[in-house]
Amino acid sequence: MAAIKRLLKTSAFSSSSAIPCIRRCLSTAAVSETDARLKSPSYPHNSLPPQADPKGKNVQWVFLGSPGVGKGTYASRLCTLLGVPHIATGDLVRDALSSNGPLSQQLAEIVNQGKLVSDEIILSLLSKRLEAGEAKGESGFILDGFPRTIKQAEILDEVTDIDLVLNLKVQENVLLEKCLGRRICSECGKNFNVASINVKGENGRPAISMAPLLPPQHCMSKLITRSDDTEAVVKERIRIYNEKSQPVEEYYRSRGKLLEFELPGGIPESWPKLLEVLNLNDYEDKQAAAA
Ligand code: AMP
Repeated sequence: MAAIKRLLKTSAFSSSSAIPCIRRCLSTAAVSETDARLKSPSYPHNSLPPQADPKGKNVQWVFLGSPGVGKGTYASRLCTLLGVPHIATGDLVRDALSSNGPLSQQLAEIVNQGKLVSDEIILSLLSKRLEAGEAKGESGFILDGFPRTIKQAEILDEVTDIDLVLNLKVQENVLLEKCLGRRICSECGKNFNVASINVKGENGRPAISMAPLLPPQHCMSKLITRSDDTEAVVKERIRIYNEKSQPVEEYYRSRGKLLEFELPGGIPESWPKLLEVLNLNDYEDKQAAAA
């Protein structure tokens, strides 16, 4: 990733011997100029912050949102559209888990309890992923699942300039159903969902329907379920999100970088609206025409 060069020079990790490569990573080749308007928390949080317009540049975005909200789905679609890598720390953790390396057993215990992996391990995995991307000439990124704590957000801030933080939201009773309905193709890695969600509107919240996102025939026999998508573990992950990661929303809100997006339904309803708030509604057509 060409955008990422500088070291992760953080006092928090300067004494760690467990992450030798952590000192040589994140930064940006083209740190955008700090715009006073962007620092201002006064813009409405449901519209694109000034300076975060994605057109004509390699975006440096972060996706926040509770487990099951659909960060991976929307981040991956936007990455395809914008031509930047989708870097999901959860995927890095699952790769490390399945590699049967020394970390694997340690990670399995943490992940299968719905807990957060230590900052040291996450930064080490992220740093390796960024180095590999840099070697391939990647530029820009959408980070999904990182940062998840204020400490991680502070570290990220020290090493690079994030343009925009998209906070995906959906009412909490939908999250559990979505996690329990999630299926992954063990061959192509794509995410699907077998849940058919219909929640009545109440307490001033609108009704919400999400049709299942079913896999194509050739993935059907290869579907697997994430080991941490059981009811007890999902509830714990949501609890931990509320405790540790919700403060990260406020961290970015106060810096004028947070864009809140409440999902109005499934992909057919949400995707066009998301493109609209990101000022990308005509971008998809232009990209398709250029292809
Ligand atoms: P996800 O796919 O984002 O739900 O992540 C799956 C699991 O990986 C989480 O429940 C955590 O155990 C771990 N994980 C992913 N990203 C982070 C992070 N930034 N910090 C700590 N743990 C993480």
